[in-house]
Amino acid sequence: MSQIAGILEKLEGTSVHDVLINMEEAYQRINEEQSEWYEKTKFTCPSGCGQCCENFEPDLFECEALYMSAWLLENQREVALNIAEGRFPFEKPKGCQLFNPDSPYHCSIYMGRAYICRLFGACSSYSKEGEKTWKPCKFYPATALAEHKPPLEHRQYSQEEIVKVLGAVPPAMSDLMQTALSFIPDSEHTALIRDILPATIKKLIWLIEINGNDNPNGTPNAPLAA
Ligand code: SF4
Ligand code: SF4
Repeated sequence: MSQIAGILEKLEGTSVHDVLINMEEAYQRINEEQSEWYEKTKFTCPSGCGQCCENFEPDLFECEALYMSAWLLENQREVALNIAEGRFPFEKPKGCQLFNPDSPYHCSIYMGRAYICRLFGACSSYSKEGEKTWKPCKFYPATALAEHKPPLEHRQYSQEEIVKVLGAVPPAMSDLMQTALSFIPDSEHTALIRDILPATIKKLIWLIEINGNDNPNGTPNAPLAA
C-alpha cells in the first residue's frame, strides 16, 4: 500500500507524479530484498541503536527529497509546513535534523527516509572477484556480536561464510542503487536535507495548488527546486 496515496492523487498528471511512483517502487524493492534477509537470518540492529544517524546528514537527489516531502505532507503535515519555512523538528548544527534523540526509533520520518538510510545495516558489497561480501556495521556492539548464535565478529565475511553462518546474504548496495540511478539524470547534484527539503516541500505545495486548487497554508511561494 502506498505511503503517499493522497499526495499522489493530488499530483496526478504533474511532472513529479511518475518520479514519486518510481521512488516508491525502488523503496519497495529494498524492503522486499531486506525482508528476505531479516526473515532468514533474524539478524537485526540492536534495539535503540541509531548511531549511524547521530552525526550524519544524508545528501539527497531531488527525487529523494520529493519523496520525503510527499511523505511528510501526507503523514506529518504540520512538520512539513514548518520545514517549508526552514524550521526543522530537531535542529542542531551538525547531523540529521530529523533524528529524534529521545525516541528509541530515532528516525522521525522512518517510512519517508532517504535512499542511503534504507541501506544501513542490511547490505552487502561485491569483492573484486564479483562475490558478495558482508561485514557487520562498525557500530554494532562487539559483545552483542559475540553473543549471537553462532558468534559473529567485526570482520569481512565471504558469501559462502555468511550463508553458512547466518543462512542468507543481504542485497548488494550497488544493485539497489542501480534501480534509483536508472532514473536520475547524470547531471543531477545532491544537497543536504536542510538545504533541499524546504524547497521541495514548497514545490509540491505549489504543484498541488495549481493542479487541484488545494492550498493548505495560504498562498505558497514560487517553487525553488524547479
Ligand atoms: S532521515 Fe532518518 S534514518 Fe536518515 S539520517 Fe535522518 S534520522 Fe537517520
Ligand atoms: S546500522 Fe549500525 S549504527 Fe545503525 S542502527 Fe544498525 S547497528 Fe546501529
